[in-house]
Order: sequence, then structure tokens, then C-alpha cells
Amino acid sequence: MTKTILLLAGDGIGPEVTAQSRRVIEHLNHDHGSDVAIDNALFGGAAIDAAGVPIEDATVARALASDAVLLGAVGGPQWAEAAYNVRPEAGLLRLRTAMNVFANLRPALCFEALADESTLKREYIDGLDIMFVRELVGGVYFNTPRGIEDMGSGKRRGINTQNYTSDEIIRVARVGFELARKRSGRLCSVEKSNVMESGLLWREEVTALGASDYSDVELSHMYADNCAMQLVRAPKQFDVILTDNLFGDLLSDAAAMLTGSLGMLPSAALGDAGAPGLYEPIHGSAPDIAGKDIANPCASILSLAMALRSSLGRPDLAETVEHAVARTLADGYRTADLAGGSHLVGTSAMGDAILARL
Ligand code: NAD
Repeated sequence: MTKTILLLAGDGIGPEVTAQSRRVIEHLNHDHGSDVAIDNALFGGAAIDAAGVPIEDATVARALASDAVLLGAVGGPQWAEAAYNVRPEAGLLRLRTAMNVFANLRPALCFEALADESTLKREYIDGLDIMFVRELVGGVYFNTPRGIEDMGSGKRRGINTQNYTSDEIIRVARVGFELARKRSGRLCSVEKSNVMESGLLWREEVTALGASDYSDVELSHMYADNCAMQLVRAPKQFDVILTDNLFGDLLSDAAAMLTGSLGMLPSAALGDAGAPGLYEPIHGSAPDIAGKDIANPCASILSLAMALRSSLGRPDLAETVEHAVARTLADGYRTADLAGGSHLVGTSAMGDAILARL
């Protein structure tokens, strides 16, 4: 059955790296029996220039009607002074909200060929393969009351609110348990139930869901501060880490950077089962290197692999793509953001090398 992927290339290096992912899709359709139709739309600054808004209603509708959306990146200095609601980033928030993607998946995966580039010794990260599941649309970044209050007498108070409902916890925990089941069967749930009621509810709900629906998954719990320490002490102890928006933001950034360049890091944002997922490299539009054919396309191509696995029904091809990227690195191909290697190549030549290994 034909699946549809909507490519929203965006701004800066977005179109350059997304072009390489498009070549991978075309190659898979031609040589590997996939049937993925490609749709395109303007997004971010490019959509502001053409239509006056960072994402048009029709594009949101097309995203909701597709099986997966692959974003490039948005933003750039030419739109940085505009009002918040017509900045490129506003398009991203609108799309995430419309798609209701509440679970953010961020792998921290160490490619063997890049193991010497980590700030940790090779023995600690060689073979590292952690999957973070971070709650993405709730918690302290979204809850009210929030703001800065004038307390009088020249004093002020900054306010943010952390709360989670049972439903919010259970829906993201299900994503974590399902992933753990498909991987090595271990889930570590991270909060601070020792000092936060929202963390205590988190622990209780995850424990109850594990006992009722996922008794085959080995569930453990860890306080977030200990998790930060364990990630740099012995990161290979983890398989899937489930956590809230705030702790996930911090811990997944720390873990991801153990494993290499920003140009290597994919992500997925998932909603309810069967709804389209949103896939994107974690890097931005990199205006400093845009238009020079030097950006690393691997994060985009690995985001496509996540889409093949979670939204396009082809986990086999996800693995094929990931192996091709690993093989390309092992054969010494590097874009300028990566050290080592024997062939320094640009964006499209990196795409060529990956396609050759597919
Ligand atoms: P950035 O991620 O764009 O760039 C940070 C640094 O990493 C730069 O030196 C850049 O050259 C380098 N880099 C990034 N991706 C790379 C790649 N694939 N290959 C090689 N080098 C790469 O972050 P920034 O400079 O803070 O932000 C630039 C713009 O991107 C801003 O407008 C920001 O708002 C936007 N942004 C968008 C997203 C998104 O679309 N999701 C995310 C972050 C930032």
C-alpha cells in the first residue's frame, strides 16, 4: 500500500539535507520495493516569503493526511526580527500542536567509526544505543500559571508550574513500553519523586501501567539527578529512558552529545497510534554554512530511517538505511563537522556515498 511522506525542507541547510533524504526515498522505491509517495510544501521562512505565514492551513491539512512528515530546519537572520507569530519557529510549534505529537524520541547512538570522537573514552560509549522518550507537549514549559509578577517594592517573582495528569503520563509511557518491547525489553523511568508530587504520580502511573499491560518489560525507576550522573559514568546500562519534558530536554541533549556531531542526530515526535509522526534532525538551519554544500545530511537521513520504522511500516528498510550510514562512516567518509576519516566530502557527495552503500 502506498504511504505518503510530506517533505518540509524549510530554510538554510534544510533544503540541502532534505534533498539527500529524498534521493534515499527514491532509491528505496526503485531498488528495495518500498512504495513511498513524496509530497512537498513550503515551510518556515520560505513560506513567510511566499505566503506571509510560516505554515499555511493547507500544509497543516496535508501533514495530517500523510503518514509521516520529514522536516529540514527553519529560521534565519532575515526573519529573526519579525513578530513571534510570523517567525519561522511559530510554524514548527503550530505543526507540532496540530499533529498532537506528545512523545519525542531521541536516540543516543554511537557509530563505531565515530567512537573516538566522544568526550568519553571509547570503552564507555562503543556500542551505545539509548532511546529517550521525552514527553513533549506538557509539563513546566506549557503549564499555567506562568509569568513574571511585580511584588511591589521593586521586587519581582518568576513563576512556572509543573503538573502532569494521569492521562498525559500514561499515553507517553505506553510509547516507552512499546519501544522497550521492540528493543531489549528494558525501560527506565526517570523523575524526581523524592521531592516532586508530579514525579510521584509519574512513578505510580508508570508502575501501574507496567504491571497491568507490560509485565514482559523490565521496568526500573531512577531519580533524574542520578540519571545525569549515570549517563556520564556508565551510559551503556540504559536501553529506553522515559521521562518528562524538562528532564528529557536536559538528559537527552547531554547523552546525544556523547556520541558525536549535531549533524548526526535524528529525532521523531509521535502522537496516538496510527497518527502521522513528525521526523526531523535536531540541528537548526545553520545559516553560517547554508548554500555551501558542506552540511552533514546524516541526521536527516537517519530521521527518515526513524520514519520508515515508526510511520511507514518498513522497519527492515530503516535498518538498511542505518547500516548504509554506518558503512559510509566506516569507509572513512566525513563531512566537515566530523573529525577523522579519509575522505572529506560535501553534502551531495555524502549522499552519493550512502546511496552507493544502500
Ligand atoms: P544550528 O543547529 O543551526 O547550528 C549550530 C552549529 O552547528 C552551526 O555552527 C552549524 O553550522 C552547525 N551545524 C548544524 N547542523 C549541521 C549539519 N547538518 N552539518 C554540519 N554542521 C551543522 O543552531 P543555531 O545556529 O543556534 O540556529 C540557527 C537557526 O536555526 C536559528 O534561526 C534557529 O532558530 C534555528 N533552529 C531551528 C531548529 C529547527 O528547525 N528545529 C532547531 C534549532 C535552531
